[in-house]
Amino acid sequence: MLRGTLPEPTPSTAWFWEAAARGELHVQACDACDGRHFPPRPFCPSCGSRDVTALRCSGRATLHSYVINHMVPKDGDGPYAVAVVRLEEGPMMMTNIVDCPQTPEALMLDMALEVVFDRVSDTITLPKFRPAGAAASGEAA
Ligand SMILES: [Zn+2]
Repeated sequence: MLRGTLPEPTPSTAWFWEAAARGELHVQACDACDGRHFPPRPFCPSCGSRDVTALRCSGRATLHSYVINHMVPKDGDGPYAVAVVRLEEGPMMMTNIVDCPQTPEALMLDMALEVVFDRVSDTITLPKFRPAGAAASGEAA
């Protein structure tokens, strides 16, 4: 799971979490200015329009930046990267990179990633990302 505080669904973001639980990643698309944004909000952060809809994403992304957190909880399993990925649709998303060593050697900027879903509670399924094609060489999900 994404370490730290779990997100709390609100009426304006519940649809996002319900979609994630089905294995679908969405961002918000603004019909007024054609902007794409994450996280979802009841209005467009660029132009203020409330004419916003959900856009289902391909799940493809690239690694934009990350920091390796060495502050490991006692029950943790080692340092982990907190990453910012750029979705193919444009928005940035803070997430974790999984199925990949949490080292600068393995975490290459602009590397191709694909979404995976980590169900952490009845209401929260976190979108995370792994190196694209990892499924072919690793165990089946
Ligand atoms: Zn807009």
